[in-house]
Amino acid sequence: MNKVKVRFAPSPTGPLHIGGARSALFNYLYALKTGGDLVLRIEDTDLERSRREYEEEIVTSLRWLGLSWQEGIDTGGANGPYRQTERLDTYRRYTEQLLAEDKAYPCYCSEEELEAERQELLAAGELVRYSGKCRTLSAEEIAVRAAQGIKPAIRFQVPDSKEFVVDDLVRGRVVFHSDNEGDFIIVKSDGIPTYNFAVVIDDSLMGITHIVRAEEHLSNTPRQLMIYQALGLAIPQFAHISLILGEDRQKMSKRHGATSLIQYREMGYLPDALFNFLSLLGWSPEGEEEILKPEEIAAAFSLERVSKSPAVFNLEKLNWINQQYIKKLESTELLSMVQPYLAASEHCQEFEAYDRSKQLLIIETIRDQMVCLKDIKQLIDIFFIEAEADDEARELLATGSAEGVFDQFAAGYPEADAPGEIKAFLKKLVKDNKLKPKDVYMPLRCALTGQMHGPDLPNMISIWGRDECLRRLNQARK
Ligand code: GLU
Ligand code: ZN
Repeated sequence: MNKVKVRFAPSPTGPLHIGGARSALFNYLYALKTGGDLVLRIEDTDLERSRREYEEEIVTSLRWLGLSWQEGIDTGGANGPYRQTERLDTYRRYTEQLLAEDKAYPCYCSEEELEAERQELLAAGELVRYSGKCRTLSAEEIAVRAAQGIKPAIRFQVPDSKEFVVDDLVRGRVVFHSDNEGDFIIVKSDGIPTYNFAVVIDDSLMGITHIVRAEEHLSNTPRQLMIYQALGLAIPQFAHISLILGEDRQKMSKRHGATSLIQYREMGYLPDALFNFLSLLGWSPEGEEEILKPEEIAAAFSLERVSKSPAVFNLEKLNWINQQYIKKLESTELLSMVQPYLAASEHCQEFEAYDRSKQLLIIETIRDQMVCLKDIKQLIDIFFIEAEADDEARELLATGSAEGVFDQFAAGYPEADAPGEIKAFLKKLVKDNKLKPKDVYMPLRCALTGQMHGPDLPNMISIWGRDECLRRLNQARK
C-alpha cells in the first residue's frame, strides 16, 4: 500500500470546536498508526467569516492538544501554499480546463432570478435545484452579458442519470444519484472557488489518500466525486465519522456548555486527558482499559473500530478522566500547573507566604477533590478562611464532650509536626482517652474547619501548625 496521507482542513471561522478537534485527532492517530503523514490546510474561502486570529487559535489549540503534522500552514512543505486563498491561480487552471472541456459553464443568473426559481419549485413541491438555464447560452449571449460587465459564476455541469458510489470506511457503501443534484457553483462571481471545488483540487494535489472527516460532509461527497471524475483525478478513500451529540442526544452546541477546545484548556483540563477523552468519542479500544496515553491510543487506533452511531459528549466522563490524569501528576508538576489559577484566588498571597514544602502539602491535600485545575481557586479557601461552623458542625460541637480532647491537643502538640507525626499524635489521643477515632477526629475537624467533611485532617493540621490550630480551637470554644 502507498504511504497514507491524511489532512485536517479547518475553516478559520471560529475557535476550534470539540468536533473539529476530534476530526483532527482521528486524522493524526491514523497517520501515526500507519506511519503516514498529516497535512494541516486552512480552508478560508469564506472571506467574510474567515479570520487570521481564528487560524492562529486553531493551530495553538491543536499543538496544545499534542498534535503535530508533517506539512501545513505553519510548517510548510512541498505542496504549499496551505491556505486556500493563496491558491487561487491553481483553482483557475482547473476551472479553465473544465470550461474548455464543456464540463462547466458561466452562469449569469442574478440572486433575484435564482430566488424566484427556487420559490416556484418549492410551491410546486418539486426538488429544489438549479434549472441549468445558462448551460445553453450561445457565444453571442455570453458576449452580450460580458460586455455589460456582469461577472458570472462558474457552474459545474452535473452528468445526467449517473450513480456515484462511496465505499466509506466507516459508513459502508453509500450510493448517490446525480439526478438529485442541480448544476452547482464551483467558482463564485468574485472568482473565489467554493468548498466542494477547492477541496477536491487540494486533496488531489496534496496527495491525500484518506479523507477522514465529519459525517456532515457525506452529503458533499457526490459533488466532489463528480469533480474528481471530470478532472480525471484519482479518488481517495473516505471515512465519515459520526456526529457528536450532547447528553440530550441533540447536536452539540453552545447550549451544552463549553464547545471550544480553548475553553476546556482555560478551565484546566489537561491536554492528555482531552486527547484521551476525544479519542473515545466514536472510537473504542479493544480492551477494557479506557485511560490510555497518547502513544497507547495511537498504537491501538484503527478506522475499523470507529463507530457508525453518534458519539455522546459526556461531561462526567471527561471530568473523571481528567481526575485520573491529575491524580497521576507529580505534586511539583501539579503545583506549577495550578499557578495561573492560583493567581485568580483572593488567597494567592497567603498561599505564597507558605514555604514550598507546605505549598506542596496543600496541593497534595486537595488534589483528590480537583476535577480541573481551576478548582484550586475554591479548594484552597478552606486553609485561609475563618472556620464558621455550619449547622452540622455546630451541633456536634455543642455536645461539648470534646473539651478534654482539645486541652490535650493544645498541651501535647508535637514539636515536629509533619503529617505522619500528627497522625501518630491523634492516635495517641484516641488511645489515652479510650475513645473511638471519630470522637477525636470529628470534633477537631469541626472546630478547625467548621465542617464535618473535608480534606485529610492530619495534613491540614500540619499545614497550619501549632499556633494557627490553637487559635482556631479557641475561636471554636467561644
Ligand atoms: N473546511 C471544511 C470544514 O471545516 C473541511 C471539510 C473537509 O474536511 O473536507 O468543515
Ligand atoms: Zn444561470
